[in-house]
Amino acid sequence: MLLGALEAGGTKMVLAVGNENGEILEQISIPTETPDITLPKIIDYFKEKKIEALGIGCFGPIDPDKTSKTYGYITSTPKLAWIDCNIVGIMKEGLGIPVGFDTDVNGSALGEATWGSTRGLGTSIYVTIGTGVGVGVYQNGGLLHGMLHPEAGHVPLGRHPEDSFEGVCPYHPNCLEGLASGPSIEKRWGKKAYELEPSHKAWELEAYYIAQALVGYILLLSPHRIVLGGGVMHQTQLFPLIREQVKVQLNGYLKTALLDDMDNYIVPAALKDDQGIMGCIKLALLELE
Ligand code: ADP
Ligand code: ZN
Repeated sequence: MLLGALEAGGTKMVLAVGNENGEILEQISIPTETPDITLPKIIDYFKEKKIEALGIGCFGPIDPDKTSKTYGYITSTPKLAWIDCNIVGIMKEGLGIPVGFDTDVNGSALGEATWGSTRGLGTSIYVTIGTGVGVGVYQNGGLLHGMLHPEAGHVPLGRHPEDSFEGVCPYHPNCLEGLASGPSIEKRWGKKAYELEPSHKAWELEAYYIAQALVGYILLLSPHRIVLGGGVMHQTQLFPLIREQVKVQLNGYLKTALLDDMDNYIVPAALKDDQGIMGCIKLALLELE
């Protein structure tokens, strides 16, 4: 069975055709321009492909509530041309097939939970640390939405006592995205994040903030495992630093076998940066079912 996958990002759109086993058979990417320019190109690509459904993992905020009038819309995004874009409606009309829809990070959480490092676990979270910070929550076998969807990249954090950097989030002085996203690393240290040496003190501060957020997620959501992805997490030296800080900050409060095995509790994505697009394939499959 052929399924379409669209990972809709603020700078590029990744389009793929895959099958029900999560195998990607072909893939292209195109720049994200305005809906008028970009959406017809996406329809043209998928029209020829004989796909039975499409899954979209989308930048947001979005409306994933099927009972809502604006279900399937991108809502209050900072990408102004895309505000109130009915992306699901336009794809359904253009392709005439079922369309599954969720946040990009919920897509990644689903990809990892179906075919990756959190397969078989009831509750897991996927955190991306990139241009933005986002969290997808896979909970008791499904994706968490609630009122809207988690926006846990913007949780407020306690500042490191020696940190006076103003942050990069226009909404919050102390949120995770403002203090630890790729752009915040670059603004704080005046260098591209990937140019900083693995031994640079930037990474300890980075781990301090990421760990603080993870401790919050652990206490609130009780995940069986946490996956960390996104461009910044290509700095693999962060993993041991984050695991250590999580232990320090939890301070022995939770006693479980999973937390004793930190190396298997906080892990990199297993799907080699395909977790997002594979999650979209699964979104398509779920919509068909
Ligand atoms: P996006 O979040 O835009 O979808 P990414 O997850 O690749 O894309 O994140 C991009 C951010 O990650 C940029 O701020 C970039 O500087 C940073 N980044 C990308 N690769 C690395 C790397 N190897 N080390 C550190 N930071 C990186
Ligand atoms: Zn914020």
